[in-house]
Amino acid sequence: MTDPATIAKHQVSSNFASCNLSHTAHRNRCLIWHARLGHVNFKRLKRMRDSSRHPEIKFSDTEYDDARHNRCPSCDAGKAKKHPTYK
Ligand SMILES: [Zn+2]
Repeated sequence: MTDPATIAKHQVSSNFASCNLSHTAHRNRCLIWHARLGHVNFKRLKRMRDSSRHPEIKFSDTEYDDARHNRCPSCDAGKAKKHPTYK
């Protein structure tokens, strides 16, 4: 796996440009790491934060709870079985 710090340095701007997150969601560090690491599962992201292998991954428990309750629109679109219908 690529070092998250390397990803953070080189792909922040491209992730922000291509990500569907709202402007306010970009303040949530948990959602930022979720997007940076290829939309990794939130439980896995929390395990990564709690492990000593990735000290650069930092976010609060409040940010984690907010990120889990405010769903990621890119993940929702990727998991959808049907195309949205427009009326
Ligand atoms: Zn996502």
